[in-house]
Amino acid sequence: MRDKLVDEGPEQNAADGGERVRRGAAVRGVVQGVGFRPFVFRLAREEGLAGFIGNDTDGVTIEVEGARARVEAFLIRLKADAPPLARIDSVRVAELEAKGDSGFRIVASEVRGQVHTGIPADAATCEDCRRELLDPQDRRYRYPFLNCTNCGPRYTITRRIPYDRPQTSMSRFAMCKACQAEYDDPANRRFHAQPNACWECGPWLWLSGPGGTEIAGDDAMESCVNRLAGGAILAIKGIGGFHLAVDATNDASVMRLRERKQRYGKPFAVMVKDLAAAREICELTAEEEALLMTSARPVVLVRKKEGSGIATGVALRVAPGVAPGIPWLGVFLPYAPLQHLLFADGRLRALVMTSANLSEEPIAIDNEEARRRLGGIADALVLHDREILQRCDDSVMAVVDGSPQLIRRARGFVPLGVELPEGMDAPHMLAVGGHLKNVLALAQGRMVVQSQHLGDLENLQGLAFFEETLAHLMKTFEIDPEVVVHDLHPGYLSTEWAKKWAGERHLPLVGVQHHHAHVAGCMAEHGLTGDAIGLALDGTGYGTDGKIWGGEVLIVRLDGADPRKFERFAHLDYVPMAGGDAAVKEPWRMALGALVTAGFGADSAEVAALISGKEREAKVLLRMMERGLNTPMTSSLGRLFDAAVALVLGRRTVDYEAQAAIELEGISLFAEETSGYALELEGGDWARREPIRLTTRAMWRELLKDLWAGVGKAQIGARFHAGVAEGFVKAAVAARKATGVGQVAMSGGCLHNRRLAELLRAKLEAEGFRVYLPRKVSPGDGGLSYGQVAVAAARLAGNSVR
Ligand SMILES: [Zn+2]
Ligand SMILES: [Zn+2]
Repeated sequence: MRDKLVDEGPEQNAADGGERVRRGAAVRGVVQGVGFRPFVFRLAREEGLAGFIGNDTDGVTIEVEGARARVEAFLIRLKADAPPLARIDSVRVAELEAKGDSGFRIVASEVRGQVHTGIPADAATCEDCRRELLDPQDRRYRYPFLNCTNCGPRYTITRRIPYDRPQTSMSRFAMCKACQAEYDDPANRRFHAQPNACWECGPWLWLSGPGGTEIAGDDAMESCVNRLAGGAILAIKGIGGFHLAVDATNDASVMRLRERKQRYGKPFAVMVKDLAAAREICELTAEEEALLMTSARPVVLVRKKEGSGIATGVALRVAPGVAPGIPWLGVFLPYAPLQHLLFADGRLRALVMTSANLSEEPIAIDNEEARRRLGGIADALVLHDREILQRCDDSVMAVVDGSPQLIRRARGFVPLGVELPEGMDAPHMLAVGGHLKNVLALAQGRMVVQSQHLGDLENLQGLAFFEETLAHLMKTFEIDPEVVVHDLHPGYLSTEWAKKWAGERHLPLVGVQHHHAHVAGCMAEHGLTGDAIGLALDGTGYGTDGKIWGGEVLIVRLDGADPRKFERFAHLDYVPMAGGDAAVKEPWRMALGALVTAGFGADSAEVAALISGKEREAKVLLRMMERGLNTPMTSSLGRLFDAAVALVLGRRTVDYEAQAAIELEGISLFAEETSGYALELEGGDWARREPIRLTTRAMWRELLKDLWAGVGKAQIGARFHAGVAEGFVKAAVAARKATGVGQVAMSGGCLHNRRLAELLRAKLEAEGFRVYLPRKVSPGDGGLSYGQVAVAAARLAGNSVR
């Protein structure tokens, strides 16, 4: 499009009219339901152009006619001034014959056949709406459901596309005259705002207290705030589901919530009144503040302020039970009008707002479901009659290595697609993801739509959520899978499900190795299709040798002669996991396995110190390891962190996944940069495709020496991180020497660890590598399905004539 503009010569003075031209523009991207048509309408009027705009199946179609200079200005501003929620992927401009018409019109939606436009994601209340909400003169003063084309719920209230009011859960609310007038006026901020509503005509709020008492309307809001300020636990219906809320500054309430929710160690997220409140309890960088303010309003993991509230004399202080044992806190800002009202009178400034579910069950969305499941946890429920159609947790992010990273992709991101590299072309495809933190993906052409975070696929509720989301996304995007992609792990419920579902439909299956998918996802996101050295640093993934992988150096290729292949260049040396999954919950078992592998005898002082108080159990474990009974072997980096935490912090058990690694990163937070404990490269022969082993013998000896010499734990933690990074960089250098490949794609759950991610990048770049980290998808298992699509699409293309 730009080239064309240059070809057309110098700008003419619009005042003299110039030559009259007509242009057609096909705009692709997220341009429906985000105020794009009224924006174009206003733009055309400002430039004095005739023509029309309409939605089509792929985006919007525009025709404009007028003086050449004005038309050119229009086309430039079309991209430059687009509304905040729009995302323009491409604009194709065509030269048309001038018709001599006058006036600019918005024409009716014409949606037939396959729909390729995204539904917009849910967006936080905009500044204009927030001002109205708190303005006593406004007709929507304190109305908990106000919104406009720049903000409000979208995905979570939509049944199917096109995104129009009758297809949403707003269909049962007939707009009042005033709302309808706004909705029909192209100059109004609420022109075609599908969830438009007010006190007169829109959804209604009520509080349901103990013994069936009910309070409606604004009194419900007031009662809710009173109860929270008094220490009560409330279940509050939000945008993608219910939250359980308590005053985050009240220790007793926070502990009561932990007990009732049966959630002990795992940190709670805290919603703060505003950025000022966030700054009082956290150390925020400019990048973190910007991330907090994005319209997705994710929970952002940031550093707690030491002794917050005490030194400053300001009252805001978060209870220690909110995020015990770690230096970070997940904070987020209000994103719905109802949430702004919780903080409006200033009594509350920080609330624990946690997904209303028991551990790892799907989040509750339905009023009846909430009463049933949350009645025993919450003292009262805040309900409303705008139905949530799609369950959607809060998204979680962190600034890692200078840029935002997704930890959990959900509200605010779903269902925005992430594209495959240019030239890739997937058939209609379903990728079912992994096991824990499951996310499914549907693909077609270059577009990949990932679902929201679906949680752990361990029980029927998890599977039901998976199936209900799949059905919805298939219908919404009109994708009818012709291929089903799954992980290689035979024990994953997702694998089992994929085989059954594909079998019933006679569809071909593609199995993709876990870490291959991780690396391929990072490559695809960054458009890398040639060879890359992949660092897959992860907790658990099933290897092609039947062992549990997770500290892998792979050579991956997304196109070319044989894209189905990846090569395993190096890996962490195998250690026993005594008791299998039990070893994940009890890191001291990993330490025992690591020490024995490293050559410390069962009667050595080091082993004796580790197992002190657990001698009998240790004896059984040692025997299991000896005989290989229920003792899988693993090369996982996550498990290496577990072993280190058991030794350094004496941690016997963990309450949640990755807790050990998070704690080890936490204690190292303030340590200086330092040399690492040595991981050593052993064996390997690239010509014979025998992988190098990264052995930990020297690492454990050095670490234990430091520990016994009384070296500070922060320093030991820092040296451990440095050693891991240096070991994998050494392996990458060896891989480059063997293959000539100079780019590194890193992925896997361990890349959530900031210290590790930053060390790896710095050390790899110092060696002259180009380094890539996932940004649009999660490096953890939430990103797996995107990588599965990339591998399967490349593999299927390799089978064709291309
Ligand atoms: Zn708004
Ligand atoms: Zn109204």
